[in-house]
Amino acid sequence: MVKAKRFVVAKHFQNEPKTTDLQLVEEELPALQTGEFLVQAEYLSVDPYMRPYVLKYPLGITMIGAQVGKIIESKNSQYPVGKRIVGYLGWRTHTIVNPQACTEVDLISQKPMLLPDLGNLSPSLCLGVLGMPGNTAYFGLLEICKPKQGEILVVSGAAGAVGSHVGQIGKHVLGLTVIGIAGSDEKCKWLVEELGFDHAINYKTENVAVSLRKAAPTGIDCYFDNVGGDISSAVMYQMKPFGRAAVCGSISSYNADASSLPKATILQPVLVFNQLKMEGFIVSRWSDRWSEGIQKNLQWIREGKLRYRETVTKGFENMFDAFVGMLQGKNTGKAIIQV
Ligand code: NDP
Repeated sequence: MVKAKRFVVAKHFQNEPKTTDLQLVEEELPALQTGEFLVQAEYLSVDPYMRPYVLKYPLGITMIGAQVGKIIESKNSQYPVGKRIVGYLGWRTHTIVNPQACTEVDLISQKPMLLPDLGNLSPSLCLGVLGMPGNTAYFGLLEICKPKQGEILVVSGAAGAVGSHVGQIGKHVLGLTVIGIAGSDEKCKWLVEELGFDHAINYKTENVAVSLRKAAPTGIDCYFDNVGGDISSAVMYQMKPFGRAAVCGSISSYNADASSLPKATILQPVLVFNQLKMEGFIVSRWSDRWSEGIQKNLQWIREGKLRYRETVTKGFENMFDAFVGMLQGKNTGKAIIQV
């Protein structure tokens, strides 16, 4: 009999998540039925979307999220023992999966996928640069911003999983001038010195509008927005006519509830008079092209055009701390939990 640990949603988050909002429970799993297989989690992901998305679901569910795990028992010949999968199985150590049935919370309608051949790369990358965040960077930048060579791209949340990836595609694949906005000097140094960004702005110590004007005196063509709020308003007001903004996330307001939503500068005047295009997106829009994104990102890693960093927290029990830490900016690159 296999014992599984999982985090159950005991209370809906209000403002910053609290330890008492989730409850760690243990349960015995039943024997496998035909068509099922048993997955043991190796790496789990904590992502910003979890904070707002989980509110849509009833209390008592397993906390939502993706993991990479190894198949340790199987009654399904397409998923043999020893192979690894990536899937939205939630915050749990062991899971019985029936690929024909929906997962417990079918977030982006993805069935568990067998990992592609990664050579000597870590399987954990399938939660980051070779997974959902990597595809968010790939499709969001190329399909929404549609940058042209020589243009100027600004990325907020630039030292995180999606942002660091967007900036590097912009710089090393598309030949753009890239300006990143992030929350510490150390992160800014990493962006410029290791990832090749042209400029980086620390939004906690600098006036973003003033620093942007210095870094891009002629204005901005493309904005990849991970954070929303005042940072984004400052960027939008410096966009050139016909600039394009891809609105990927709004982490600056995820911890606010309806009554305490932060206010930011109104955007309509600059949208109208500079004829800007601002479009939100969810990466599942490109689920039919999922493996194209993964393969392209893999190719760019192998060609040395794309670097990545993971901030790894050890121990399944520490998932909550890793989650809150990521929301507070303690991660550089992708926040991962190693079981
Ligand atoms: P990150 O790895 O970027 O981690 C979150 C980061 O957000 C932190 O490290 C922190 O960095 C920054 N942050 C936290 N609070 C604030 C704030 N108030 N203002 C500015 N920055 C803040 O996460 P991801 O790369 O996984 O996600 C980035 C964004 O992309 C999120 O908004 C997420 O929701 C969105 N997303 C959207 C998808 C889609 O389909 N649309 C898919 C995947 C992600 P710092 O130290 O710089 O503050």
